[in-house]
Amino acid sequence: MSETHSGNWLLCDVTYMQWDPPLVGQGDIRIRDGVIVEVGEGLKPASDETVEELRGHWVMPGLVCGHTHLYSALSCGMPMPTSAPISFGDMLDKVWWRLDRALDREAVQISASVGAVSALRVGVTTLIDHHASPNAIDESLLVIDDGLEQVGLRRILCYEVTDRGGDSRRNAGLRAHEQLLSRPVGKNSGGKRAVLIGAHANFTLSDETLRRCADLARDAGVGLHIHVAEAIDDTILTKENPVLRLERLGALRPGSILAHCVHSSADDLQRIVDAGAWIAHQPRSNMNNSVGYAPVHQFPKNTILGTDGIGADVLTEIQTGWFQGQENKIGWGPQRWLQMLQQGTHFASLQLGQNLGQMAVGGAADLVVLDPPPGPPLTADNLAAAVIFRLSPHQIRHVMIDGVWRLRDQTVTGLSMSSLDEHAQEVSQAVWSRMDALS
Ligand SMILES: [Zn+2]
Repeated sequence: MSETHSGNWLLCDVTYMQWDPPLVGQGDIRIRDGVIVEVGEGLKPASDETVEELRGHWVMPGLVCGHTHLYSALSCGMPMPTSAPISFGDMLDKVWWRLDRALDREAVQISASVGAVSALRVGVTTLIDHHASPNAIDESLLVIDDGLEQVGLRRILCYEVTDRGGDSRRNAGLRAHEQLLSRPVGKNSGGKRAVLIGAHANFTLSDETLRRCADLARDAGVGLHIHVAEAIDDTILTKENPVLRLERLGALRPGSILAHCVHSSADDLQRIVDAGAWIAHQPRSNMNNSVGYAPVHQFPKNTILGTDGIGADVLTEIQTGWFQGQENKIGWGPQRWLQMLQQGTHFASLQLGQNLGQMAVGGAADLVVLDPPPGPPLTADNLAAAVIFRLSPHQIRHVMIDGVWRLRDQTVTGLSMSSLDEHAQEVSQAVWSRMDALS
């Protein structure tokens, strides 16, 4: 392949796919200025474009990770609590709230870069992040934004506002959004950046703080991004239904992401749909935190898949979701899971002013090139089964975002891996030492 640059490309001889409605086709894809301008067989190269002979490789739309926490990127190896957590609240106290308090500005920056690289390598081209660093709040979203820009990812960012650190940290969290909103967003950012207003969860937010989040979201014309009914604690500690509480405080806004909804009723889910908000489902995290099995069989169409900080591997997440659903006899066919992938690109498109997830003229050139697994022919009828049973992130060879190759032959193009690795190793040790001191 030729050197990395944005420009005009003709990707020749590929098998391309789109999630929902399922589509599989063979042929060539012409790209100009980050947009697909022609799809068909036997396209003739123009004099001003670079031809990429892909010889039967598969091409899928860039994936969207609908809910993650980049700040957990340095967590593998962190000091574990001396006694095992006995509840979800205990898990937050002993593990995740020790980690986020140990982050300084440098750790936020390195976490963003490390997380972005691992996302790119698993075919994620847009990250929807929910950030917390209570001892390094100021400009934290700008730092993350810069880190993701370097790797080339599209991103929808927020800071996890909470009352657990008192008024000054609460106010700093709100201000972090204003700092990021001073940069161009949506279409004006070239579809690279969008902002949601982040809030931790009902049980760490007072009425006043939730109202402030809702006011900021209304003024910015965006939704909230909040954990809802992840564990039963959300209801027990607030003594109020979490969805009804958001509604009462004006915080159930269109374009919001409500992550988890493990303990939400059919009525709650309908209220979320009626408000124009979205649900993010994270099956691996729910299992890892032992919070219960979400009412997936009742989840509406506007449900997207996230990873909740367990990397960004959406393919593995969908596979896990499938098997867990089978075990729980939810009665979903494979295509229903592919709808979640498509909804992820749809949600991100609305925020970023782009046409993501469309393998057609006018679609954004966010494309993932995979080594095709030997086996039966790929068709629209077996695409969903192929995603669940045949696809693996290990097959990902190249990733293009907005017409620029960001991963070439499994190598990240935007930054030096060896210096990032060296820096990440040093910073991880420092974070873990601070965690030790916090225990
Ligand atoms: Zn989360």
